[in-house]
Amino acid sequence: MAARLRFITCGSVDDGKSTLLGRLLYDAGAVLEDQLDALRRDSRRLHGEESLDFALLTDGLEAEREQGITIDVAWRYFHTMRRHFIVADCPGHEQYTRNMATGASQAELAVVLVDARKGLLAQTRRHSYICALMGIRQVILAVNKMDLVGFDADVYASIVEPYRALAARLGIETIHALPVVAPDGDNVGAHSARMPWYTGPTLLELLESAEAEPAPPRAFRLPVQWVNRADADFRGYAGTVSGGRVAVGDEVVVQPAMQRARVARIVTADGDLAAAAHGQAVTLCLDREVDASRGDVIASAAEPAPVADQFGCHLIWMDEAPLLPNRSYLLRLGTRTVNARVTAIKHKVDVNTQAELAARRLELNEVGYCNVDIDQPVPFERYADNRTLGGFVLIDRQSNATVAAGMIDFALRRASNIH
Ligand code: GDP
Repeated sequence: MAARLRFITCGSVDDGKSTLLGRLLYDAGAVLEDQLDALRRDSRRLHGEESLDFALLTDGLEAEREQGITIDVAWRYFHTMRRHFIVADCPGHEQYTRNMATGASQAELAVVLVDARKGLLAQTRRHSYICALMGIRQVILAVNKMDLVGFDADVYASIVEPYRALAARLGIETIHALPVVAPDGDNVGAHSARMPWYTGPTLLELLESAEAEPAPPRAFRLPVQWVNRADADFRGYAGTVSGGRVAVGDEVVVQPAMQRARVARIVTADGDLAAAAHGQAVTLCLDREVDASRGDVIASAAEPAPVADQFGCHLIWMDEAPLLPNRSYLLRLGTRTVNARVTAIKHKVDVNTQAELAARRLELNEVGYCNVDIDQPVPFERYADNRTLGGFVLIDRQSNATVAAGMIDFALRRASNIH
């Protein structure tokens, strides 16, 4: 079976996101018989007809909350014979950009929906830009409501061609496009007899064959989530490996303090391992006492993470109140929380044209390139290399609300200069 795929759906209000996802689940055989009964009942009650309203299905699925780069996102799980999927549920249209950015920060692929009658909208460009900024490199462009444009291949082409140009400009590497009719399932789970001119794969086939996220290419990193002191003789550092690989006997370094040790044991719920790799949740025991705590990073001694206290980064502003430079926020990076200030807004980005504009403040949903200062040196990675150690959030001290998602571009000042 292919590796699990995490994806999100993007589109403007009423483009058909819920219907498409519901139809996808139905065609994937991921809907249980009792859910189907409920769907038939609810469709009849709401619409008084026999046709099924697939948008209702997405409400009945098992939902699970996970802590994301920014805020809680509800993720829904389903599977086919070939693959397990996790799809972000970004319900409602309020704060859609914020929810979408959160989902995108953890997803490997985005399904971008366009209404065939409307074509590419400012929203389409905006969502695609944010997907690219959040690290998504694969997009499926689903041109929906083809029934309302007479299944016209020229209308389809007039949307897909400019989208390919846009996506290429944004650095999205893989772009698949397909024409669909979400409620009827054309090209969702089965090929459409009504659009014989489209001979490519269905949406389900594209999702089943999409590439899973490649592991970050960097050396071993373990952001410490908690220190496990089960008894006087046991001390382990628990977390999820975020890049690289570690084996018993490897020399590691606890950052930012730079204490060295060797890995004595790699403990998991299923017993000890000789080695662990990216994505595995483990507890490391070291061969000597170190002073590691939540927020520290255990890294390869040969290739430690860079450490810095000033960054150049992109920020997506997510609060009603604008970002004003020099205010103090909490910054959460990996498992660490520190004090931070945005010292300068270098420019903001027009998300429709990608033009860089001068700015004194960032408003809700605006993207800017900023300098951020923190009150202590922290280990980090560029977001482009490692989302866990390169992505952070800013939290307002008074309201405790997440006000921004940040993506580290590079260090402005390295810790070696400030000790
Ligand atoms: P969302 O807001 O993006 O989640 O959109 P919905 O899934 O709620 O769909 C909005 C409306 O468009 C609903 O009335 C759907 O039945 C309708 N719709 C969705 N896809 C299609 C389509 O391919 N063809 C037609 N004719 N209607 C569609």
